[in-house]
Amino acid sequence: MPDALPSIERARAEVLSSCAPLASEPVAVGIALDRVLAADVVAAADAPPFDNSAMDGFAVRSDASSGPLQVVDESRAGAPASRALAPGEAIRISTGAVLPAGADAVVPVEQTREDDGRVTLAAAVAPGQHVRRAGEDLRAGATVLRAGTRLGPAELGAAIAAGAGAVPCARRPSVELLTTGDELRAPGAELAPGEIHNSNGTVLGALVARAGARTAGLRAVPDDAEHTEAALAATLEHADVAIVSGGISVGPHDHVKGALRRLGVRERFWRVDLQPGKPTWFGTRGAQLVFGLPGNPVSSFVTFALFVRPALLALQGAARPLPAQEHAQLAQDVPRRGRQQALRVRLAGGADGLHATPNGPQGSHVGSSLVGADALAFVPAGEGVLPAGTPVVVERL
Ligand code: AMP
Ligand code: MG
Repeated sequence: MPDALPSIERARAEVLSSCAPLASEPVAVGIALDRVLAADVVAAADAPPFDNSAMDGFAVRSDASSGPLQVVDESRAGAPASRALAPGEAIRISTGAVLPAGADAVVPVEQTREDDGRVTLAAAVAPGQHVRRAGEDLRAGATVLRAGTRLGPAELGAAIAAGAGAVPCARRPSVELLTTGDELRAPGAELAPGEIHNSNGTVLGALVARAGARTAGLRAVPDDAEHTEAALAATLEHADVAIVSGGISVGPHDHVKGALRRLGVRERFWRVDLQPGKPTWFGTRGAQLVFGLPGNPVSSFVTFALFVRPALLALQGAARPLPAQEHAQLAQDVPRRGRQQALRVRLAGGADGLHATPNGPQGSHVGSSLVGADALAFVPAGEGVLPAGTPVVVERL
C-alpha cells in the first residue's frame, strides 16, 4: 500500500492554519509569566528616568581640583540631594541615586579620602565618569517588546522598565482533557489484573500548563460508544481545545472518531508519517480544535510536543509557535523503522556541535525513556541503519 500519510511538517501546517489568536485581555505583570503579548510594549518614559550614579562615592564637577572638597549634602537612592553642587563642593552619592545638578562625574569611594567633612580625590576625574544617563537602557517611545513575544523573566523586567503594570495578552486557551480506556485507574490506585494507571491525564495536563494554557476539565471514560460520545459532547461545550487520549485507532473498542463525527467535528487528518504517534487525529468544529492522541504514553507525549503545543502557542498569538530546529549528529547507530521517527534523545555539546544519544529503548510504551530526554531527533523514513555521525534535526522538548 503506498504510504500517503502526511509528513510531520504537513500535519503541523494543517494544525497551524486552523489556529486564530484568541481575544486579548490586560494581564498584571505579576502574573504574566509565560503569557504571550498581543501588542507591542512601548517605553512610556526614559529608563533609567534620570541621570544617576553607577557607584557609591561622591558626585563632583570634573573640572574640580583634587580637593579637598567640602561634603555639603547626600543623594541616596530614592532621596535626591536637596541642593545643587557648587565649585569646591562634593555630594555623597549612592549607586542609583540622582546625579545632583551641577555635578557631571562620580568618584568611587575607594578613590577618595575623607577627613572631617572634607574629601580628597586620589585620581584625575573625567567628565561623565561613573554616570548612567537617563534613557541609556530604554528611550521613551521605543518599542521594547514585540507582539507575539512570550514573556519570560527578562521580558517581564523589560516591560516593567518600560512603565507597564499590565500588558495585553491573548486569553489563555481553555483545554478539556478526556482519557479513554477500560483498563485505566487513577494514579496510585490498587490495580486488578489487566488494569494500569492513567498517566496520560496528568501528563497532558502538565504539558498544557507548560504551554501556557489552562486545563478546564479532565474526564476519564470507559471504552463504550455511549459514554465516549456523552463525555465528548460535554468536553466540546466550552473548550477552545479538546485533547482525547486513546481510543483513536481501528480496534473494535476505539469509539472516539465515530463519536467526534457525530458531534460535528470535521476530520482534518488522521494518521501521520511518524513513529511514535502514527494514529494521531486532528479535527475542527468552527474555531474549536480537537486532537485525538494515541494512548501509548510516549506517543501522546510526543504528538503533544509536535502538534498540540504549537497549536496552543498559536492560539495565544505566539510569533514562533514551532520549536526552534537545531542540528546535531547521531552519537550512535540508529535502526530505521520505515516511517519517519521522532527519537527521544539526550543532547551533549562537542567541539563539532551537538551530539544526540537515544535516551534508552524507543518503544512507544517505554515512558521511562522520556525521563531525562532533552529533545526529539528526527530520523527520516527509510530502511537500514543510520550510522553514528549522521546529521539530524532536533527540537528541544
Ligand atoms: P489506545 O490508543 O487506546 O489503543 O491505547 C494504546 C496503549 O496505551 C494501550 O496499551 C493503553 O493501555 C495505553 N494507554 C491508553 N490510555 C492511557 C493512559 N491514559 N495512561 C496510560 N496508558 C494509556
Ligand atoms: Mg484504548
